[in-house]
Amino acid sequence: MYKDVLLHIGGEWTNATSGRTIDVVNPATEDVIGTVAHAGREDLDVVIEAAEKGYAIWRATPAFKRAALLRKAADLIRDRAPEIATIMTMEQGKPFAESKGETLVAADILDWFSEEAKRTYGRVIPARGEGIYQLVLKEPVGIVAAFTPWNFPINQAVRKVAGAVAAGCAVILKGPEETPGSCAELVRAFADAGLPPGVLNLVYGVPQEISEYLIPHRAVRKISFTGSTAVGKHLAALAGQHMKRATMELGGHAPAIVFEDADLDAAAKILAANKFRNAGQVCVAPTRFLVHEGVYDGFMERFLGAVKKIIVGNGLEESTTMGPLANERRIPAIESFIADAKNHGARIAAGGERIGNKGYFFLPTVMTDVPITARVMNEEPFGPLALVNRFSTFEDAMKEANRLDYGLASYAYSRSNKTVTALGDRIESGMISINHHGIALPETPFGGMKDSGYGWEGGTEAIEAYLATKFVSQAS
Ligand code: NAD
Repeated sequence: MYKDVLLHIGGEWTNATSGRTIDVVNPATEDVIGTVAHAGREDLDVVIEAAEKGYAIWRATPAFKRAALLRKAADLIRDRAPEIATIMTMEQGKPFAESKGETLVAADILDWFSEEAKRTYGRVIPARGEGIYQLVLKEPVGIVAAFTPWNFPINQAVRKVAGAVAAGCAVILKGPEETPGSCAELVRAFADAGLPPGVLNLVYGVPQEISEYLIPHRAVRKISFTGSTAVGKHLAALAGQHMKRATMELGGHAPAIVFEDADLDAAAKILAANKFRNAGQVCVAPTRFLVHEGVYDGFMERFLGAVKKIIVGNGLEESTTMGPLANERRIPAIESFIADAKNHGARIAAGGERIGNKGYFFLPTVMTDVPITARVMNEEPFGPLALVNRFSTFEDAMKEANRLDYGLASYAYSRSNKTVTALGDRIESGMISINHHGIALPETPFGGMKDSGYGWEGGTEAIEAYLATKFVSQAS
């Protein structure tokens, strides 16, 4: 069922010139299920040429035609969702329902951007002299190099690709080597919808080799990266050195604050679902739980009750609600966070270890009384790890919530209007969801502040990332 994944260059599906490939492993079984073509320098030279040709065609294509193509790609993805979701679960591990949900959301994102394509308005500024027209034009920024990770193989890519293609740009997408098949299906939907050759190209290989070639290249005008803060800072520096525009969607360490007057049933249920979705490998996952001391016991009883109901298993089995970690290196990473926290005095309230020794399965884990000196309280755990501590005053909660340099997502539960309003004002993060989980819709801005990056990937802000502003002053 899993097919070997090829590069997509200039409208053709192709092996790497060298013939090299990388194995793709199913994280639930540890079986090699296929391969992905490994692009070398010679392939990257060809992809640049292809993108230049594609860009010349696409920037001259009317917005209405671009919009229609995006809609057609969305329809194809909807039709193919069950097959695409199976590929995603086989290579990434997440439960089939999550894979299908991600695939269908990708179609919604394409629909959203198909509408945005038609609304890249400029403006006319009243002139000081007769017969003069001062025009502000919006034009595509040029060729985009996009780098996307393995946790949401389609969604991280579609947010970039849809915006860029809607704006009239050409894209060179460096997809995730560990989960290449579902990302390739996104590209296939565009190709089958009739996108001209070279507008959307897909490569895989050694991430560092590809970014160090593409970012400085004079043909590339814009960089968009999703991944860790450490890599993001490195790529942003490279982009800065070569005066390239950049969007950086980086890591997070979201606080989830449960106030004394919270609806504890809703808080426990929604936070547990979102903590352990995709085995916690989500940049906006709630991580630092801050629970008011007055409701701590009541919250923990409900939260641990919800955690116990999670069924860990192969994502292709219908009963599974949490799959394995996506790759082998996440196991020692999570184990070392837990060992270090225990050494600092943290207690394990649930889970805490790997399940078996076949497949990268890990128990949903809850740690309490975790000192802020523990490494996991400062670095993104990116796994099924909830860290629960108590607080007593609003100011204490704010101090801890804003303590880190991360600033991506935050969550809070309170029935007080005063508290809710103060949260919107005080929390230092790009997105805050209060009394429900409402982050990452196509029509709402998605992005961070501080070390979590810059730029937006949803809402009306998103297409701006792929547009350049040009001022034209003309006398008749
Ligand atoms: P990593 O830092 O090696 O890689 C993270 C991502 O960046 C991968 O997609 C990788 O291909 C890419 N990457 C790495 N070096 C690159 C380079 N020089 N040029 C271009 N791309 C490069 O880590 P990992 O083991 O794959 O993932 C672990 C960490 O990455 C997690 O702890 C998490 O913090 C972060 N991560 C974040 C997201 C997100 O959605 N923000 C997604 C995946 C991983």
